[in-house]
Amino acid sequence: MFKSALFFLKSLFLIEILKGLYITFTYMFKKRATLDYPYEKGYLSTRFRGEHSLRRYDDGQERCIACKLCEAICPAGAITIEAGVDSKKMRRTSKYDIDMTKCIYCGYCQEACPVDAIVEGPNFEYAKESRLELFYDKQKLLGNGDRWEDALSHNIEANSRYK
Ligand code: SF4
Ligand code: SF4
Repeated sequence: MFKSALFFLKSLFLIEILKGLYITFTYMFKKRATLDYPYEKGYLSTRFRGEHSLRRYDDGQERCIACKLCEAICPAGAITIEAGVDSKKMRRTSKYDIDMTKCIYCGYCQEACPVDAIVEGPNFEYAKESRLELFYDKQKLLGNGDRWEDALSHNIEANSRYK
Protein backbone atom coordinates (compact mmCIF):
# COMPACT_ATOMS: atom_id res chain seq x y z
CA MET A 1 0.00 0.00 0.00
CA PHE A 2 2.75 2.41 1.08
CA LYS A 3 4.87 1.48 -1.99
CA SER A 4 2.08 2.12 -4.47
CA ALA A 5 1.26 5.47 -2.79
CA LEU A 6 4.91 6.49 -3.10
CA PHE A 7 4.93 5.43 -6.73
CA PHE A 8 1.76 7.46 -7.35
CA LEU A 9 3.26 10.58 -5.75
CA LYS A 10 6.53 10.20 -7.68
CA SER A 11 4.59 9.90 -10.93
CA LEU A 12 2.35 12.82 -10.04
CA PHE A 13 5.22 15.21 -9.40
CA LEU A 14 7.44 13.82 -12.24
CA ILE A 15 10.20 13.16 -9.72
CA GLU A 16 12.32 10.95 -12.01
CA ILE A 17 12.16 13.48 -14.85
CA LEU A 18 13.17 16.29 -12.48
CA LYS A 19 16.09 14.16 -11.22
CA GLY A 20 17.22 13.61 -14.80
CA LEU A 21 16.93 17.32 -15.61
CA TYR A 22 18.89 18.19 -12.48
CA ILE A 23 21.76 15.93 -13.58
CA THR A 24 21.66 17.42 -17.10
CA PHE A 25 21.84 20.98 -15.79
CA THR A 26 24.70 20.24 -13.39
CA TYR A 27 26.71 18.84 -16.34
CA MET A 28 26.07 22.03 -18.33
CA PHE A 29 28.33 23.93 -15.94
CA LYS A 30 31.05 21.28 -15.59
CA LYS A 31 34.30 21.32 -17.58
CA ARG A 32 33.97 19.34 -20.80
CA ALA A 33 35.71 15.98 -20.85
CA THR A 34 35.73 15.81 -24.66
CA LEU A 35 37.50 17.78 -27.38
CA ASP A 36 36.01 19.25 -30.52
CA TYR A 37 38.48 17.36 -32.73
CA PRO A 38 39.83 18.22 -35.30
CA TYR A 39 39.32 21.89 -34.33
CA GLU A 40 40.69 21.24 -30.85
CA LYS A 41 43.73 19.05 -30.20
CA GLY A 42 44.78 17.35 -26.99
CA TYR A 43 48.14 17.45 -25.24
CA LEU A 44 50.88 15.58 -27.06
CA SER A 45 54.04 14.44 -25.27
CA THR A 46 57.37 15.66 -26.63
CA ARG A 47 58.21 11.93 -26.86
CA PHE A 48 55.26 11.14 -29.10
CA ARG A 49 56.35 8.96 -32.03
CA GLY A 50 54.36 9.89 -35.09
CA GLU A 51 55.12 10.38 -38.77
CA HIS A 52 58.77 10.25 -39.78
CA SER A 53 60.83 13.16 -41.05
CA LEU A 54 64.33 13.64 -42.38
CA ARG A 55 65.90 16.81 -41.01
CA ARG A 56 68.31 19.36 -42.45
CA TYR A 57 70.87 21.65 -40.86
CA ASP A 58 70.13 25.38 -40.71
CA ASP A 59 72.04 25.95 -43.96
CA GLY A 60 69.75 23.53 -45.78
CA GLN A 61 72.23 20.67 -45.91
CA GLU A 62 70.84 17.20 -45.28
CA ARG A 63 71.79 15.81 -41.90
CA CYS A 64 71.73 12.20 -43.00
CA ILE A 65 75.19 10.78 -43.72
CA ALA A 66 73.91 7.46 -45.06
CA CYS A 67 75.48 5.44 -42.26
CA LYS A 68 72.56 2.99 -42.51
CA LEU A 69 72.32 2.47 -38.74
CA CYS A 70 68.59 3.16 -38.84
CA GLU A 71 68.13 0.60 -41.60
CA ALA A 72 70.12 -1.99 -39.66
CA ILE A 73 68.27 -1.50 -36.39
CA CYS A 74 64.72 -1.33 -37.79
CA PRO A 75 63.02 -4.49 -36.47
CA ALA A 76 60.30 -4.29 -39.10
CA GLY A 77 62.63 -3.99 -42.07
CA ALA A 78 60.73 -0.86 -43.05
CA ILE A 79 63.72 1.29 -44.07
CA THR A 80 65.60 0.91 -47.36
CA ILE A 81 68.66 3.03 -47.98
CA GLU A 82 71.09 3.28 -50.85
CA ALA A 83 74.22 5.32 -50.26
CA GLY A 84 76.19 7.47 -52.67
CA VAL A 85 78.10 10.74 -52.85
CA ASP A 86 76.71 14.13 -53.78
CA SER A 87 78.26 16.83 -55.99
CA LYS A 88 80.41 17.99 -53.05
CA LYS A 89 81.74 14.45 -52.56
CA MET A 90 79.74 14.13 -49.31
CA ARG A 91 78.33 10.75 -48.41
CA ARG A 92 74.56 10.96 -48.87
CA THR A 93 71.60 8.70 -49.48
CA SER A 94 70.60 8.28 -53.09
CA LYS A 95 67.52 6.48 -51.86
CA TYR A 96 65.81 6.64 -48.48
CA ASP A 97 62.47 4.84 -48.34
CA ILE A 98 60.25 3.98 -45.41
CA ASP A 99 57.38 1.59 -45.81
CA MET A 100 54.98 3.12 -43.29
CA THR A 101 52.70 0.08 -43.54
CA LYS A 102 55.46 -2.00 -41.93
CA CYS A 103 56.58 0.52 -39.32
CA ILE A 104 55.69 -0.30 -35.72
CA TYR A 105 56.71 3.15 -34.39
CA CYS A 106 59.28 1.71 -32.01
CA GLY A 107 61.53 4.76 -32.39
CA TYR A 108 64.72 2.68 -32.77
CA CYS A 109 65.63 4.47 -36.00
CA GLN A 110 65.76 7.85 -34.33
CA GLU A 111 67.55 6.39 -31.29
CA ALA A 112 70.24 4.93 -33.55
CA CYS A 113 70.77 8.02 -35.69
CA PRO A 114 74.04 9.76 -34.71
CA VAL A 115 73.04 13.10 -36.24
CA ASP A 116 69.32 13.35 -35.35
CA ALA A 117 68.41 13.11 -39.03
CA ILE A 118 65.56 10.63 -38.94
CA VAL A 119 63.00 11.65 -36.34
CA GLU A 120 59.47 10.64 -35.54
CA GLY A 121 57.52 13.86 -35.23
CA PRO A 122 54.27 15.00 -33.69
CA ASN A 123 52.13 14.48 -36.80
CA PHE A 124 49.58 11.70 -36.42
CA GLU A 125 47.13 12.95 -39.05
CA TYR A 126 48.38 11.20 -42.13
CA ALA A 127 45.80 8.51 -42.77
CA LYS A 128 45.65 7.70 -46.47
CA GLU A 129 43.23 6.04 -48.84
CA SER A 130 45.78 3.75 -50.46
CA ARG A 131 48.82 1.75 -49.33
CA LEU A 132 50.87 3.34 -52.10
CA GLU A 133 50.67 6.71 -50.38
CA LEU A 134 52.27 5.19 -47.28
CA PHE A 135 55.47 4.25 -49.11
CA TYR A 136 57.54 7.32 -48.26
CA ASP A 137 60.57 8.31 -50.30
CA LYS A 138 63.38 10.71 -49.48
CA GLN A 139 61.64 13.77 -50.92
CA LYS A 140 58.54 13.12 -48.88
CA LEU A 141 60.61 12.62 -45.71
CA LEU A 142 62.68 15.75 -46.30
CA GLY A 143 59.47 17.67 -46.95
CA ASN A 144 58.13 16.47 -43.62
CA GLY A 145 61.35 17.62 -41.98
CA ASP A 146 61.02 21.11 -43.47
CA ARG A 147 57.40 21.31 -42.40
CA TRP A 148 57.87 20.12 -38.83
CA GLU A 149 61.38 21.37 -38.04
CA ASP A 150 60.32 23.78 -35.28
CA ALA A 151 58.43 21.09 -33.39
CA LEU A 152 61.11 18.46 -34.04
CA SER A 153 63.98 20.58 -32.75
CA HIS A 154 61.89 21.61 -29.73
CA ASN A 155 61.14 17.95 -28.88
CA ILE A 156 64.76 16.88 -29.35
CA GLU A 157 65.91 19.69 -27.07
CA ALA A 158 63.27 18.81 -24.47
CA ASN A 159 64.42 15.17 -24.36
CA SER A 160 68.16 15.69 -24.77
CA ARG A 161 68.91 15.14 -21.07
CA TYR A 162 67.42 11.64 -21.20
CA LYS A 163 69.70 10.45 -24.03
S1 SF4 B 1 60.02 3.44 -35.87
FE1 SF4 B 1 60.87 1.36 -35.63
S2 SF4 B 1 59.74 0.12 -37.14
FE2 SF4 B 1 59.42 2.28 -37.71
S3 SF4 B 1 61.00 2.73 -39.21
FE3 SF4 B 1 61.83 3.32 -37.20
S4 SF4 B 1 62.95 1.51 -36.46
FE4 SF4 B 1 61.61 0.84 -38.16
S1 SF4 C 1 69.03 8.72 -40.91
FE1 SF4 C 1 70.69 8.71 -39.40
S2 SF4 C 1 71.02 6.56 -38.91
FE2 SF4 C 1 69.84 6.63 -40.82
S3 SF4 C 1 71.38 6.54 -42.44
FE3 SF4 C 1 70.95 8.70 -42.05
S4 SF4 C 1 72.51 9.33 -40.55
FE4 SF4 C 1 72.46 7.08 -40.53
